[in-house]
Amino acid sequence: MQPVRHVYVHVPFCPRICPYCAFSVLPADRRQMSPLVDAILREKKTVSKLCVPLPETLYLGGGTPSALPTRELERLLIGLLPVSTGAELTLEMNPTTVSREKAALLHSMGVNRISLGAQSLDAETLSFLGRQHTPELIRRSVKILRDAGFCNINLDLIFGSPTESLEKWMRTLEQAVGMSPEHISAYQLTVEEGTPFAQKLSAGAWVQNEDEDAKKFLETGKFLESAGYGQYEVSNYAKLGFESRHNQAYWRGEDYLGLGPGAVSTVGSVRWTNPTDLLHYGGSVTPEAHGKSGQEILTPEMRQKEKLMLGLRTAGGVVIESGWETALADLLEAGYATENQGCWKLTREGLLRADSIAQLFF
Ligand code: SF4
Repeated sequence: MQPVRHVYVHVPFCPRICPYCAFSVLPADRRQMSPLVDAILREKKTVSKLCVPLPETLYLGGGTPSALPTRELERLLIGLLPVSTGAELTLEMNPTTVSREKAALLHSMGVNRISLGAQSLDAETLSFLGRQHTPELIRRSVKILRDAGFCNINLDLIFGSPTESLEKWMRTLEQAVGMSPEHISAYQLTVEEGTPFAQKLSAGAWVQNEDEDAKKFLETGKFLESAGYGQYEVSNYAKLGFESRHNQAYWRGEDYLGLGPGAVSTVGSVRWTNPTDLLHYGGSVTPEAHGKSGQEILTPEMRQKEKLMLGLRTAGGVVIESGWETALADLLEAGYATENQGCWKLTREGLLRADSIAQLFF
């Protein structure tokens, strides 16, 4: 088994929990931050034999890693470093947690990619999404990050809010492009069970407009492409050379280690999910207990199918072995896919239906 080259670190704290969020998150509580950093660093030691000494990508996500106080953020990074020369080191930030002090610290410690949870540049939509920041704060955050020296910034955006017409969404995209980020992620708002949004939706507070969402998806691809951002995965667009290396490793089906509460790891034929509860997580990072929680054994066929499903969502496409001729012929005829020497790629219309197309192969 090859040592793992990609590491994800989950910091679950957020200044406020968004009503659509289905991630493993906790309201920011300063008293819990230092013990969490200690536990993550203990976990890193525990898994060190599974990982290359110098990872090629390190991604701190959550949650909101930038919700950690500067001192804890510094301690966490010191404990996680070093990474290999030329490694991609990403940290997710929320505009309400961007400060000159944190930006300077992160840059000086080698963080070279920031993913900013902007979500929208429309004030009404930000308020619908329960976000505390304003469009102005997003612009200020980008300026602070640029001033600190960051030259690889992603803006995370969400479309599909009922407050947002197609025109409003396109204005958000125009304003996002106006800030010249190197990368844009544009996710469709999905209402997950158990969230406050799911309750509101079932109470009839609004209805989801699938036709309009499909239009937004298709127009997003066209607009961003014309602005110089290639769509290299269903929801991800980048200027050439700024595609996320960490996420591409997931989509190629490579192994990864996930540190932190609720983080998932996949190494060879084993996948495990750390406990989400901080106390249980803290107790699970010892060599004896680690990796036992939420453990799943993956057969080579299961990993192969995952690879196919993830690869179909990317611009690079996937090589599909024979046995699926009928399904593939239907995709070609509908204009949802193209084929070149056995490599299948979905068209933009196909990417719109990527989830249901992937089901054809299961
Ligand atoms: S900031 Fe992101 S991770 Fe945190 S609650 Fe909101 S959606 Fe969830």
